[in-house]
Amino acid sequence: MPRIARVIVEIAVDREFDYLIPERLEADLKVGSQVVVPFGRSEARGYIVSLADKSDVDISRLKEIRDRVGKKALVEQNILDLARWIADYYCAPVEAAVRTVLPSAVRKKGAGFKERLMVFPTDAATNELAVEELRKHAPKQAAVLDVLLGGKEMFLHHLAKNAGTTTGTIRTLEEKGFVQIGRSAVRRDPMANQTILKTQPLELMPQQADALKMVRESIDTLKPSVVLLYGVTGSGKTEVYLQAIQCAMDKGKGAIVLVPEISLTPQTLERFRGRFGDCIAVLHSSLGEGERHDEWHRVHEGKAQIVIGARSALFAPVKNLGLIVVDEEHEPSYKQEEAPRYNARDVAVMRGHMEKCSVVLGTATPALESYCNALSGKYGLARLPHRVDHRKMPVMHVVDMRVEAEREGHVNVFSRELIHAVQQRIDRSEQTMLFLNRRGYATSLICPKCGFVAQCDMCSVAMTYHRQTDELVCHICGVRRKVPKQCPNKDCRDPAFRFAGFGTQRVEAVLAKVFPKAHIQRMDSDTTTQKDSHRRILGDFRTGKIDILVGTQMIAKGLHFPNVTLVGVLLADMSLHMPDFRAAERTFQLLTQVAGRAGRGDVKGEVIVQTYTPFHPAIQAARRLDYEGFVDQEIEFRRELSYPPYAHLVCVTMKGLVEEKVSFSGEAFVKALQPELPKAVVLAGPAPAPLARAKGHYRYQVILRAPTTKLVTAPLKKVMKIFKWPDGVSCAIDVDAVSLM
Ligand code: ADP
Ligand code: ZN
Repeated sequence: MPRIARVIVEIAVDREFDYLIPERLEADLKVGSQVVVPFGRSEARGYIVSLADKSDVDISRLKEIRDRVGKKALVEQNILDLARWIADYYCAPVEAAVRTVLPSAVRKKGAGFKERLMVFPTDAATNELAVEELRKHAPKQAAVLDVLLGGKEMFLHHLAKNAGTTTGTIRTLEEKGFVQIGRSAVRRDPMANQTILKTQPLELMPQQADALKMVRESIDTLKPSVVLLYGVTGSGKTEVYLQAIQCAMDKGKGAIVLVPEISLTPQTLERFRGRFGDCIAVLHSSLGEGERHDEWHRVHEGKAQIVIGARSALFAPVKNLGLIVVDEEHEPSYKQEEAPRYNARDVAVMRGHMEKCSVVLGTATPALESYCNALSGKYGLARLPHRVDHRKMPVMHVVDMRVEAEREGHVNVFSRELIHAVQQRIDRSEQTMLFLNRRGYATSLICPKCGFVAQCDMCSVAMTYHRQTDELVCHICGVRRKVPKQCPNKDCRDPAFRFAGFGTQRVEAVLAKVFPKAHIQRMDSDTTTQKDSHRRILGDFRTGKIDILVGTQMIAKGLHFPNVTLVGVLLADMSLHMPDFRAAERTFQLLTQVAGRAGRGDVKGEVIVQTYTPFHPAIQAARRLDYEGFVDQEIEFRRELSYPPYAHLVCVTMKGLVEEKVSFSGEAFVKALQPELPKAVVLAGPAPAPLARAKGHYRYQVILRAPTTKLVTAPLKKVMKIFKWPDGVSCAIDVDAVSLM
């Protein structure tokens, strides 16, 4: 009987190919094995996704698998099943989904353990007579043994150095049978040079104990299988996660903790390391490739039972999974912006379902989708309504910048109220965080005479002025340009170009003028390009070397600094006016998160929010700390217009360099799609996307809404198979889209 393997080839599009398994490899190849196969005229790497004894193809035409890569199967059946589900649900090629579930640090050619030569003593080394003999005739060799026996085994080079000799001497000892030299993997440990104090479980507050009880039930009985842990900032969610993980461990099960990339700070890692030590592996994009490879394999080999990491850590090969925690579940960054465009929170729920493990979604501001699932009883709901020790929630003041501008006669970065509050903190040696979600110095360069705005040639956005480098930068494509000496409009040529709007650089500059003695630090993606800068800045802030920390959303998440008593939001309107139906929800979440950084110590916190739309419901609800009030209103609007959570939304974006081609093929596509769509699907477009042009490509969107995704994706897939896009136009499908830019 022939043995046939179905293989996903890495370089090929959405297809699986059958190959014969040669006899010599029969014993070694399993589902998940990585193999080399003949492909076209050359060869390619791929993964075995299933084994069979039949093929749809004539067996005589099948080629043989050439070889295997590595000894063990890298992808287990459960992870492959999950990849298949992702490909199907998110309309992505299977092979892209398989690539996603297997980190490149593990998958790519040349990935492997770092090995070093180790020296081990043999029995002869403890034979006193033999060693005495050696001491007489070869004192250098004897010295090596003296060093070695103190430490049992050592790296070859260390040993040579410590014994004051060369590796040659040790080789001679090996020939004489006193030692053995062998290869041994050294672990590249991302936390190697940090000492972390072991922590003990805290005694839980009643609200935490109740929440833990529900999670424990979930781990034991899967009733409920998903728990939404809705706890205000500082309510002790993390302690609940830690003790829940311990429950899973006590039952011999593993756990995965997902946190948004941006809040995967050393502080967060420390809390988990402190409790679980070496049982925990970290998977994080800022680790070196080697570190990632080794951490992944520690999980694969069962040496680490707990994984903490960003989005893709969800696919870690944890055995006997008992619990998945998704912290800050509302975070848009759980959505991957390239194919497969999956949302790690939703896939976590799916993995939990497939592997019969409990899932905990934690947040201070549940996504409306999750909250509705909790209200309908699909998820369990555990609430932590108070801060630990009943510390007071911060008080939020909303400052109307229109009034401020009128009083001052011009627009300022800071209101008087905010300046006064910062001064107070400096006087009292307390700390301040100022938040503005825009880096750079000025938002745009504007000609006061003709109104010309310096725009990127390739994208439909204004360029941002960066003062440090004295350049205009496009935040979409990254292009940099010199600042023009005069207005580029040929009918104008006015030399008096002016800056409009402000970014974090400008905030920092103005602060330095107003508070010349204060220690000010900026933290955004421009100041954190170096590997360790993120950690260093936060370290300095924590030890009090910095009075005022200015930053983008990088400082909004999950940080805990007891001495921060003031948080300022410089322009709350920025997220409010995004062309996106979730703009209000995002603004509410952002304000709540940012405010949550204040007053985490003994002194009550204060939050000052500057805005031009002070009466917007999202801002007012955030001021009152009123999540339910916000939801009541927002959900009505979503229901009326059938937006999520009342519908699933699929966004199809086409782009190309020639605008007519893009819009025309968009029309043709819709014409082909429309007859296939069931009645329940609402279609809008094609229309220019809010970001109408990026990197030179014109972008058009079609937005589809329906009660279930299948109603949209089934016809979409059918049409995509036969529809011919013209050359130079490409199309991307985003299921449950999070960003509609
Ligand atoms: P959240 O994740 O909800 O924002 P944290 O888990 O960061 O809240 O908790 C806030 C602070 O309260 C932390 O310093 C934490 O160590 C402390 N804490 C949490 N639970 C308890 C408890 N039961 N007793 C004492 N301190 C606690
Ligand atoms: Zn650009």
